[in-house]
Amino acid sequence: MRFSCNGCGKCCHDHHVPLTLSEARDWAADGGTLIVLVEAVLEDGSGLPAGQQEHVFKRSLAVRCGQTRAHLAITFAAFNQGACRNLQSDMRCGIYERRPLVCRIYPMEINPHIPLRAENKDCPPEVWQAGPELIVGNQLVDAELAELIERSRQADRDEIAAKAAICERLGIHTSALKGDGFTAYLPQREAFLAALDEVLAAGEVAPQADWSLHVSNDALAKQLEETGAMIAALLNENCAFISLRVA
Ligand code: SF4
Ligand code: SF4
Repeated sequence: MRFSCNGCGKCCHDHHVPLTLSEARDWAADGGTLIVLVEAVLEDGSGLPAGQQEHVFKRSLAVRCGQTRAHLAITFAAFNQGACRNLQSDMRCGIYERRPLVCRIYPMEINPHIPLRAENKDCPPEVWQAGPELIVGNQLVDAELAELIERSRQADRDEIAAKAAICERLGIHTSALKGDGFTAYLPQREAFLAALDEVLAAGEVAPQADWSLHVSNDALAKQLEETGAMIAALLNENCAFISLRVA
């Protein structure tokens, strides 16, 4: 597989860009809006995709959820509806030198269980036929790109406890079940920055709250309740449920 970006700017539209903690801080401090996306698997394996145990558990944090435990994965992302706030009229990035890690990695996947498929990406067909080799066999050719992907994965693992503590300070403690959807929150910018700075100043952080799950249907809610999980309605006005179920 070859690849040569043509700078069309399509990937800078309508993508919520996952951010590391320091990137999320910069994004909010610059005046950008953040979205918080939460999903979890349960102690008994509910929600866990086959073969992904190591990946999912490494980047998650175990918290109380009723009589069981939920392993939370939390994404802080730039909230991009339409063009990214940093995209200039010539389709160049206005913060190119300090653009987020994920912007440097696209169109590669971060999740090692998701193979790169050109048809799932925004890039036009011709960019996959030109330029240097990107993947040979199953191997990524560019060592620098491989290092960026690894850095992004490591940040996911290192920062999950701090993200959960920030969520708890913002009153966020309802998650979706992985594979069923995400709970999505749009925190107020100043409150987000205050919570982030408080958590970073505190250093070591441990989850305090009882987390609950919001799911897409009653049958699933009943099934999870039988495992001891706490099920909740969405009560927070800044919270939405993004379903992954096909209607
Ligand atoms: S930060 Fe820059 S590279 Fe990233 S989505 Fe926005 S415009 Fe594109
Ligand atoms: S959509 Fe693909 S080709 Fe277009 S700017 Fe983004 S990475 Fe480059």
